[in-house]
Amino acid sequence: MARTVTLIPGDGIGPEVTGSAKEVIGALGVDIEWEIAEAGETVMEREGTPLPEYVLESIRRNKVALKGPLTTPVGTGFRSVNVALRKELDLYANIRPALSLPGLDLPYRDIDILLFRENTEDLYAGVEHMVGKHAAESIKIITREGTERICRMAFEYSRDQGRRHVTVVHKANIMKYTDGLFREVFYEVARDYEDDFEEIDERIVDNMAMQLVMKPNLYDVLVCPNLYGDILSDLCAGLTGGLGVAPGANIGEDIALFEPVHGSAPKYAGQNRANPLATLLSAKNMLYYLGYGEAADRMQGAINAALKNPETRTKDLGGSAGTREFTRAVISNLTG
Ligand code: NAD
Repeated sequence: MARTVTLIPGDGIGPEVTGSAKEVIGALGVDIEWEIAEAGETVMEREGTPLPEYVLESIRRNKVALKGPLTTPVGTGFRSVNVALRKELDLYANIRPALSLPGLDLPYRDIDILLFRENTEDLYAGVEHMVGKHAAESIKIITREGTERICRMAFEYSRDQGRRHVTVVHKANIMKYTDGLFREVFYEVARDYEDDFEEIDERIVDNMAMQLVMKPNLYDVLVCPNLYGDILSDLCAGLTGGLGVAPGANIGEDIALFEPVHGSAPKYAGQNRANPLATLLSAKNMLYYLGYGEAADRMQGAINAALKNPETRTKDLGGSAGTREFTRAVISNLTG
């Protein structure tokens, strides 16, 4: 029986990169029926809201979604639909793997970092307002409950993957209450997993940024409050080939939404310029989540083969292929 999955095509380059994932999954022969639910900028113009209720209903019903990037106006306009989706569906864990891919000429090889970003609290809680005309404040929210569940998921998931080293990232030297609580709860949860890992430690976020640039191979699993996780995951993406290759997943109790880390890159929209790899890798992780492990492995093999050939790499990776050519190369490696 076909598995129904919600597909949010997204804004900007979104329809091209999610279209690529749809094609590749079709070529794999996995029996997925896509329920298209549009959200974002174009829907805003048509329906007056960028996140119509039917999008949330579709995800709640199907429990699994693949999403393209959605535009958020900077400074003014509607609030982030991405943040709203995570909050509405209580997708409290944002998992962002950074894995070295074959064939790319980059300063580091063998990077394999799994970053867990708390997804609902911190400065992204949206408690922000003007104080008079010339000042503004944003409230950073960290709760014991919110921290405990992201830390527990990080330890459980990392243990199941056989990982050895978990690092909590914070700035508790300055934000003694908020980041102090995040750090404290991390170590409380860690007590249940001491025997499962070789190392459980901490880094202050600024030092962490430098360490990741200089010695990324020393790190395995990172657990971060929302804002640091957002920034450091882009840094990790930069270490492995850029935003075009960085996949992500937003996971809650029983709902999972898979999406690339990158945004809608409007300047590339409709130009066959976007690298679909981040979305393909997100879709591959979705296949694992759905239990299609064999198909996911085949997909990774076909991606690796397409990357090894410089001609079929996209422009951001030094090649000359467009979105469509890269997609075709992956498909021909699946079927060829
Ligand atoms: P962006 O990720 O869209 O683009 C940053 C740069 O990265 C682009 O100029 C481009 O050079 C490169 N890039 C990104 N994805 C690429 C791809 N697949 N292939 C090739 N190059 C790629 O970030 P931005 O410019 O800061 O944001 C644009 C819009 O996207 C904003 O409205 C922002 O709010 C939104 N956004 C959405 C999400 C999401 O939906 N999860 C995430 C980040 C940003």
